[in-house]
Amino acid sequence: MYQELLGKKYGDYLSFIRRQMIKDQIEARGVKDARVLAAMDKVCRHCFVTDDMVSRAYEDYPLPSACGQTISQPYIVALMSELLELKGGEKVLEIGTGAGYQTAVLSELGAAVFTVEIFPELARSAEEKLGKLGYTGINFRNGDGAEGWAEHAPYDRVLMTCAAPELPPALAAQLAEGGRLVMPVGGPGGQRLTVFTKSGGAMNARAVCDVAFVPLLKAGGERAA
Ligand code: SAH
Repeated sequence: MYQELLGKKYGDYLSFIRRQMIKDQIEARGVKDARVLAAMDKVCRHCFVTDDMVSRAYEDYPLPSACGQTISQPYIVALMSELLELKGGEKVLEIGTGAGYQTAVLSELGAAVFTVEIFPELARSAEEKLGKLGYTGINFRNGDGAEGWAEHAPYDRVLMTCAAPELPPALAAQLAEGGRLVMPVGGPGGQRLTVFTKSGGAMNARAVCDVAFVPLLKAGGERAA
């Protein structure tokens, strides 16, 4: 594939601009977790973007991907990963596989990842891509992430990479006691990146910052709410 060729020819240059991205976009905005910074350094974002976006892969914004979806901005991927407070070995449910970039970062952080994507072609191509890049221990599912993945619950962490007006009840139910769930909460009027922690069965919310994610969809493509 084109990206492989590019990596062979320009690998040093791509590593260099990836380190710049970490310094200027991620550390400069306050992400400190050394394991997150190392994971961001390991994952080749240029491998996850479409061919025409390769030259912009390390720039400071989300990029378009297949099915009208997006690949999240690098800083937001790093911030959400930090907010999950992963030490390694956690079971993580990710909703919205997309191109698989965030999935790769979670895997680099030592998580056992269960990832759900609503578009079959995205689920399939992310699985193929991550397999080719040598990632193991990632479990893929095509379906509606609002239902979670009950079979493997409970999860130590849940990360949703699309926005919903409210926390989907199935995700709260599938989060382990003491677990953390990170998601953008809101609709067309605005979204807040929110961290939920589960304590005594109750979900406690803390809003972190304003964000702009694609919405949670229903099968067939319309907005879930
Ligand atoms: N995690 C990606 C970002 C993907 S954008 C990254 O690393 O860049 C959000 C993704 O959520 C899209 O791929 C979209 O198709 C998916 N999505 C939207 N609604 C969904 C649903 N109900 N269930 C699962 N995935 C959904």
